[in-house]
Amino acid sequence: MKIKMLNNETINKIAAGEVIVRPISVIKELVENAIDAESTRISVAVEKGGKTSICVTDNGVGIAYNEVPLAFKRHATSKILKIEDLESIDTLGFRGEALSSISAIARVRITTKTAEEEIGSQSFFEGGTFINQRVCTYDRGTEIMVTDLFYNTPARQKHLQKDKNEEKLIRDILEKLSLSHPEISFTYSSDGREVFKTLGTGNLKDVIESLYGRDFFKGLRELDVENSPMRLRGYISDLTLTRSTREEQIFFINNRFVKNKSLSRAFEDAYEGYMMVHKHPVGIVFMDLPGRMLDVNIHPAKTEIQILNESLVSILFKQGIRDCLKAQNLVVDVSEVT
Ligand code: ADP
Ligand code: MG
Repeated sequence: MKIKMLNNETINKIAAGEVIVRPISVIKELVENAIDAESTRISVAVEKGGKTSICVTDNGVGIAYNEVPLAFKRHATSKILKIEDLESIDTLGFRGEALSSISAIARVRITTKTAEEEIGSQSFFEGGTFINQRVCTYDRGTEIMVTDLFYNTPARQKHLQKDKNEEKLIRDILEKLSLSHPEISFTYSSDGREVFKTLGTGNLKDVIESLYGRDFFKGLRELDVENSPMRLRGYISDLTLTRSTREEQIFFINNRFVKNKSLSRAFEDAYEGYMMVHKHPVGIVFMDLPGRMLDVNIHPAKTEIQILNESLVSILFKQGIRDCLKAQNLVVDVSEVT
């Protein structure tokens, strides 16, 4: 074959496929945008595990009428201007890829209004193309409705799991976003049924109770320890609350969810001698670490942060958890009994 330049449509579809892999990718991007837009209320509604439709509504700053088409262009962002801005960035997004990627592989309807505008707008995009825009009444904020995900990329569609499994992934990611943003009230519904709603009080305890129930919370103890340069906050099992899986060991580093085997191991090691076999302690732990111990320049599709010195971080983590358990008189170290 001769060498040829790819056309823009193909380039965009390929790029979109890297950012948007399954329904949760859409949800993560749209909810992160809503958080960046300073929303205090965010609601997510999906049908059939997000395959039929995904609707994210927020009460944030909105997008002005004549900026909507631009927001859906690749590499269009209001969050940075130049590479140096990345050093002091406090938003979740900055690549300007999400809206263009989503609209390249689905049908999108966006309804939005800024505080300054008298009237809102509604616009349609499909397969990467801007279809049309009209004015309409709307409260301040943004609603993005995504339907027919992957309708024009059958290979991606084939790789989707059963509705139930996609739905579970969505619930998981929304739980984590709710935990790391107690100041925002999240509502999540699936196939017309409300799955959970958090209150947005700013209190982590309230989020945990909304997600997992009061009884679950009763089995937790407050964690607040400093093991310099690490600081740990959150809630951890009081020894009686255990699970047969590690699903409710939820860790955040600098307020971003992390999935990390060494941290799980360190957490369980802290309970050594006090857990029955096949039982796992639960914990919702927020770890603050200096930026130099992390590599945050990750691909948008990944949730993992790279910890630069994993063994040191794990030791500090284990000590911190153990110290908390000791301070609460839940555990005693044999070496200290004299
Ligand atoms: P990024 O988040 O990396 O800037 P996106 O493609 O996700 O790129 O969004 C493009 C732009 O559209 C954002 O920079 C922001 O200005 C605007 N935008 C997207 N979603 C929202 C929203 N929910 N509320 C207000 N503005 C939004
Ligand atoms: Mg974004």
